[in-house]
Amino acid sequence: MEKLREIEKELAMCIKEKKCTYGGWPDNLPMCPPYNKFGYFTYCGGGMLYLGRALLLDLIEPSPEVLKVLSTCTTCGYCGDTCKLVSVTPPHFQVHEMISIIRAEMIEQGIDVTDGEKRILDFIKEEKNPFGISNDKRLQAHRTISNPKAKVAIYIGCFNTLKRRNTFDACIKILEKSQVDFSLLVDEWCCGAPLLDMGYRKEIPEIAEHNIKEIEKTGAEKIIFLCPHCLNIFSSFYPQITNTKISAEFSYVTQFFLDLARKNLLKFSNSDKPNKKIAFHDPCYLSRYIGDVESFRELLKYIPSVELVEMRRNRSETYCCGAGGGVKISDPNYSEWIGMDRMREFINTGANELITSCPHCTNHFLDVKKKIGKDFIIADSTEFVSNYVMV
Ligand code: SF4
Ligand code: SF4
Repeated sequence: MEKLREIEKELAMCIKEKKCTYGGWPDNLPMCPPYNKFGYFTYCGGGMLYLGRALLLDLIEPSPEVLKVLSTCTTCGYCGDTCKLVSVTPPHFQVHEMISIIRAEMIEQGIDVTDGEKRILDFIKEEKNPFGISNDKRLQAHRTISNPKAKVAIYIGCFNTLKRRNTFDACIKILEKSQVDFSLLVDEWCCGAPLLDMGYRKEIPEIAEHNIKEIEKTGAEKIIFLCPHCLNIFSSFYPQITNTKISAEFSYVTQFFLDLARKNLLKFSNSDKPNKKIAFHDPCYLSRYIGDVESFRELLKYIPSVELVEMRRNRSETYCCGAGGGVKISDPNYSEWIGMDRMREFINTGANELITSCPHCTNHFLDVKKKIGKDFIIADSTEFVSNYVMV
């Protein structure tokens, strides 16, 4: 329990007032998915800290039951964002970071994750992606379109390369139309975010070293990320576990496009398109971990006749799509329940397109939509804006 000992003081700071479970006044909407679903204090950020403390004080044993409770955390980050109490003592970890440490400790103690999660671990070890698809498929795609002298490189991410390529294709279209040269990593591996979610931290340093070397090989000055989970692990976790510094700057793809639009290098036209009413789902990792709630909204200002309507929970008080923390694999019914909750919120806006900025959110919403039988478009923000790029 070495890691838990390091956060012993912080684990003891929670005063159980459950601020980490609900949103701001006056609506006080539910914000923590496991607490919203199961309704017990144990299933919220504070409650999970109590579990960690009980483990440390030998009041409970590490067990599959304890790991199961911890695994209901979707890593949405709301508790860490909202609770200013537990992070006041050094080393200043936030609530969700401590939950991740407790989860990793359980794995260290030999408690098993579900078979589905184990499969992901094996796939990442063997094929360097969580789907078990041969990594050659990814490498071939990269070789055909890469420009090795470019100042900009794209870290695409497994989902956008191997499962649903719409966002990647849209990104290429926008970069080409804006005449931005770009390169790709020759041998991109999964960033390791699914392992971090599950608590398999020991496996990540090798992945980090590899990906950092591949990025350095591109010689690019700017790396664009198409998935906020990848961007987060590169910018927040890799520096904690490696001594190798990346010289290039990181940018989320919509931030990069916004810079281009501001410099008049990216232009939009909608003369042949009908007016649109869209709602934007802020992905947890983009809004709370990375802190970007404006780049897509600002970008929209360059595209006339698109009306943005807000869901009740938005920006840094967004609500999880239901795919975070590995729950889509470990507990698909619970994951779908969260997605349905969010989807109802979208439907209540009256918008006819649901736009988000994360491949995991997009994929999960597409799955949930099949269950509700309503007709509307779901797309990633890069796909959406690519429809308006001027020829
Ligand atoms: S990270 Fe999100 S899901 Fe996990 S305990 Fe905190 S608020 Fe709940
Ligand atoms: S974790 Fe923070 S916000 Fe949540 S109950 Fe404890 S003290 Fe309150």
